[in-house]
Amino acid sequence: MGKKFVYMFSEGSGSMRELLGGKGANLAEMTSLGMPVPQGFTITTEACTQYYADGQQINKEIQAEIMSYITKLEVIAGKKFGDLKNPLLVSVRSGARASMPGMMDTILNLGLNDQVVEAFAKKTNNPRFAYDSYRRFIQMYSDVVMEVGKKYFEQLIDEMKEKRGVKLDTELTAADLKKLAEQFKAEYKAKIGEDFPQDPKEQLMGAIRAVFRSWDNPRAIYYRRMNDIPSDWGTAVNVQMMVFGNMGDTSGTGVAFTRNPATGEKKLFGEFLMNAQGEDVVAGVRTPQPIQKLAETMPEAYAQFVDICNKLEFHYRDMQDMEFTIEDKKLFMLQTRNGKRTAAAALKIACDLVDEGMISQEEAVSMIDPKSLDSLLHPQFDPAALKAAKPVGQGLAASPGAAAGKIVFTAEDATEWAKNGEKVVLVRLETSPEDIEGMHYAQGILTVRGGMTSHAAVVARGMGTCCVSGCGDIKIDETAKTFDLGGKHFKEGDFLSIDGSTGNIYAGNIPTVDAEIGGEFGRIMSWADQNRKLRVRTNADTPRDAAQAFKFGAEGIGLCRTEHMFFDPARIAAIRQMIVSETVEQRERALAKLEPMQQSDFEGIYEAMKGQPVTIRLLDPPLHEFLPTDEEDIKTLAKEMKMTVNDLKAVIASLHEFNPMMGHRGCRLAVTYPEIAAMQTSAIIKAALAVRSRRPAWKIVPEIMIPLVGEVKELAYVKEVVTKTADAIIAQTNDKMQYKVGTMIEIPRAALTADEIAKEADFFSFGTNDLTQMTFGFSRDDAGKFLGAYYDKKIYEFDPFAKLDQVGVGRLVKMAADLGRQTRPDIKLGICGEHGGDPSTVEFCHKVGLTYVSCSPFRVPIARLAAAQAAIKDAKK
Ligand code: PEP
Ligand code: MG
Repeated sequence: MGKKFVYMFSEGSGSMRELLGGKGANLAEMTSLGMPVPQGFTITTEACTQYYADGQQINKEIQAEIMSYITKLEVIAGKKFGDLKNPLLVSVRSGARASMPGMMDTILNLGLNDQVVEAFAKKTNNPRFAYDSYRRFIQMYSDVVMEVGKKYFEQLIDEMKEKRGVKLDTELTAADLKKLAEQFKAEYKAKIGEDFPQDPKEQLMGAIRAVFRSWDNPRAIYYRRMNDIPSDWGTAVNVQMMVFGNMGDTSGTGVAFTRNPATGEKKLFGEFLMNAQGEDVVAGVRTPQPIQKLAETMPEAYAQFVDICNKLEFHYRDMQDMEFTIEDKKLFMLQTRNGKRTAAAALKIACDLVDEGMISQEEAVSMIDPKSLDSLLHPQFDPAALKAAKPVGQGLAASPGAAAGKIVFTAEDATEWAKNGEKVVLVRLETSPEDIEGMHYAQGILTVRGGMTSHAAVVARGMGTCCVSGCGDIKIDETAKTFDLGGKHFKEGDFLSIDGSTGNIYAGNIPTVDAEIGGEFGRIMSWADQNRKLRVRTNADTPRDAAQAFKFGAEGIGLCRTEHMFFDPARIAAIRQMIVSETVEQRERALAKLEPMQQSDFEGIYEAMKGQPVTIRLLDPPLHEFLPTDEEDIKTLAKEMKMTVNDLKAVIASLHEFNPMMGHRGCRLAVTYPEIAAMQTSAIIKAALAVRSRRPAWKIVPEIMIPLVGEVKELAYVKEVVTKTADAIIAQTNDKMQYKVGTMIEIPRAALTADEIAKEADFFSFGTNDLTQMTFGFSRDDAGKFLGAYYDKKIYEFDPFAKLDQVGVGRLVKMAADLGRQTRPDIKLGICGEHGGDPSTVEFCHKVGLTYVSCSPFRVPIARLAAAQAAIKDAKK
């Protein structure tokens, strides 16, 4: 016997999610619990995969298997498909393994045709209902199966209502609806060039094909990418006997949650409509009634429903989202699933379920989506105001939170306007390190270029500022201070609202509300901490960010990017002097100015972290990033350096690089200018000594990190500069302070030779931003331009700069970790690329056995939770 592609509900069970999809498995489970479920069968996700393998066709064998199940269903129902006396009508609905609400399609009332509808009218003694069902079916079939837009049909309904002088669909008579069904069929023929299919089998296969096809519609693809659902899973199809909520005033349909999905409150929450079918409840044509009202309208059905809700929640040990229909006073359950909920509700429900003795603390930790915590920590748009708003465009959701303010086009304006009490949104073609101050002052940042690890994205996440990046649809004129988007013209001072959690951009000023962190957050986090093996550190460059991360539970700093301290207007002069120095003496003079500033920064960071480990990285970016571009700034610098403007311009020109990301940066700077590494080492060691003398209880051991290493000799050279400097300073004190020197693994060659590199490194930190860039050969800043095409063509399913590519880049990480441990079994291993805050990457890091992950401050709680989930999952195995 070949593979089985179809299962009756009574054959399946709740554990068969992968094969039957979530909806199918739950329908089977409800059936086995003896609940009133209209019977039917599920066509498996494997049939969907087969459909694609067969070139988007349902093969003969599967068609035959489906039809044999129709026969079985006919026996159970005591009705026949296409019968003129007692016709069987079915619904056809999608149901993937992971629920994808509203992403795929549904068809109701299938099995009706010109004759069957007459028979149906007679049998139900309700012609109005019969023709209403038929015209709905034609409409849904045309829309979903044949992709004729809904609007043509809605237009016909509106014309009919106008002709009859009525407002509501329900006021149309049987004759009107019969006429409408005729018009719909004519519309179908006009658009498709064929008659509306009358053969129920043809209708059924068309509907099933449409569900399979809908697995690959653009909104489903987008939803999967957002929610890490693999595209090869496929969707199952559920074919279920129709029950009718639109049979009259003793029928109805509704949806309900066992707890409030917005707040988590333990109280049935839902709506229903009498004399209605399926989508009427959500379509908003008529206003549904709160579910509690059903107790008055139909007390028996309500009591039974409440009883089933309790049983289902108890059975699944989670909040349920259910659909039901009442057909002539009799209750039927159409679906149940774990309900989608807000982050706040998720925390409350998880804690309540623990308190009610329904689940364990580990289960509570495992049921929260780590990414959803983001929304708890940042301001959000007022949900009511957001409902009324329509986005004018969309970019990448680069840093979460919501922001509204007046548009400014330069970082200086952002700073100035904000200092004058204005809320501003900074709109830039792309941001550069010089914009940092303005970015701090802005409510939000919107850029035309740049991906998830572009400068704007990285910096904004670090600061916890909302950012939408890479909105290529914007036509910007930075000189005129205007831009166009979505057919609208925006100028400086206009209001703009952006949502860094969705990437949506809105015209106007949408009010925001502050995040509220309740006691449940702390409870879940403490349970998470008891379970995880990975440590969680943060990427922080300033005492302010460090303090923020500490509050969120960071256990150290995994990456302090020292260059971010250089952009302060008070320091940029000295750093520029250093760069354009032509002699070592000149350079050392400039460095001497910088050293006390750096030392005080590092002291601040050590203080903020209260004795926890801090990894400080030596200067990394290409030097020209710091150089002035503005004529005035160039003049000032020339004067300071006692150079002519032309000489200075020549120096600046000589620093130009064709490919700065692969140019004179990272440890290459220290190889050419060892005095920079010496100055920074000195500042780090002196800062640590100073804080140790003030805080004897803190056992500070500085960790100095050398970036962008590709060869062990290169590391050994820079390390010697570091150790010589450090040892000399420590020797002059009574403190026997230890320190560590490690490196970043961010060049493939370093990963490939990690056993060699480990000879010189106390620790590795995987810089997966650069490692991804160099492994793929994709520029971090430009990949956003073409990745969209890669998603569309299913070459890649996700952004490798946001979620670690475990197949390729991950293989390098694992290999380097293993090689590093071979040489040095106790080597500390961490990750500090942006991936360190991504839950799937955190799970990978757990599996590879890293010591810690490091991420931006606002993602620390996400990483803590994801690390606990990985450990719990591992322990279960
Ligand atoms: C990295 O490359 O992953 C990294 C953390 O360094 P940066 O982003 O500063 O290049
Ligand atoms: Mg890097």
